[in-house]
Amino acid sequence: MSPRHRVVIIGGGFGGLRAARALRSAPVDVTLIDRRNYHLFQPLLYQVATGSLSPGQIAAPIRSVLSRQKNTRVLMGEVVDVDPDARRVVLADGAVVEYDSLIVAAGSQTSYYGHDDWRQWAPGMKSIEEATNIRHKILYAFEVAERLADPAERRAWLRFVIVGADPRSLARVPVDLDDLAAVPDVRPASFRPFALYGRTKNMNAMFGYALARRLDGTGSTVNGAHPGVIRGTALGRHSRGALRVFGATLSLFVPGPDAGADTPAWLAVSPEVAGVTGRFFAKRQEFPTAPHTTDVARCDRLWEESARLVGLPVA
Ligand SMILES: Cc1cc2nc3c(=O)[nH]c(=O)nc-3n(C[C@H](O)[C@H](O)[C@H](O)COP(=O)(O)OP(=O)(O)OC[C@H]3O[C@@H](n4cnc5c(N)ncnc54)[C@H](O)[C@@H]3O)c2cc1C
Repeated sequence: MSPRHRVVIIGGGFGGLRAARALRSAPVDVTLIDRRNYHLFQPLLYQVATGSLSPGQIAAPIRSVLSRQKNTRVLMGEVVDVDPDARRVVLADGAVVEYDSLIVAAGSQTSYYGHDDWRQWAPGMKSIEEATNIRHKILYAFEVAERLADPAERRAWLRFVIVGADPRSLARVPVDLDDLAAVPDVRPASFRPFALYGRTKNMNAMFGYALARRLDGTGSTVNGAHPGVIRGTALGRHSRGALRVFGATLSLFVPGPDAGADTPAWLAVSPEVAGVTGRFFAKRQEFPTAPHTTDVARCDRLWEESARLVGLPVA
């Protein structure tokens, strides 16, 4: 009897698990390799980073997820090399796993656009370790502030900046508060990614204003910042034709990441904006976002509806 076809999958994230499941009934032997033995539900990392979920609630052992799949084994190990000629992958401990077909689903990593030295100040949020690091930074800031007697010193620890796209150019994209949980119609003909994108950016501004009002009087400040269009983000790399050429040409003229970091960093530390809260800035200038994003009742409703949707108490 000839040996069965061997499929190796690198990565037990959404992509790797999906691939493994698709091979459930195929006449193949699947080996899924991941450097950690659990599947991480990345979209809930924000909640871990802000303390509303614990890490265990968003991680599931990969072996349990695939336990009913007879043709699949799970190995924990870090892949450090792939030899396509010999058809084998090499793990950090020197182990070798041979394959007939290889699926690489190793995900992505945070890019600092050539500024890896920024990592210590702006941690990524792709792993539990990074999310708990952010949570520690937030809680630590509150703890330090609690013990400082000087209000100016205390406020310096309590500045929050929400960085996102420019709601001015997206001002006309509405936020339908009656339709927050709606699954968008994703048929290719009617799927309008830019409209969904604009909606989320306008909602970011609304959340910022609602949060600032809720924190009013506590010494904490919250402002929004638009970093601007930045070179090196590969914006438009998935576009085709004229749009792609436009994106590539535009990237020649836009500033680098230093310019993008300027306004958020200025809002976070500059004495010029000490005590300023509930505003939106670009290039160190305040600007008004669309009236539909500043309406107090609408912002509060978005806040309350969102809390309800994710099961948090309305505060
Ligand atoms: C904070 C956050 C919020 C998000 N929110 C949303 C959202 O609301 N909606 C949405 O659609 N998407 C969201 N995403 C994006 C979504 O989570 C990712 O697109 C998705 O997780 C990518 O899946 P993946 O399988 O390609 O990679 P990953 O989920 O990153 O999985 C890759 C796996 O490969 C493993 N791996 C990597 N390198 C190696 C190696 N050398 N050896 C062995 N194993 C390795 C990793 O340990 C990991 O388990 C969010 C992402 C983040 C970070």
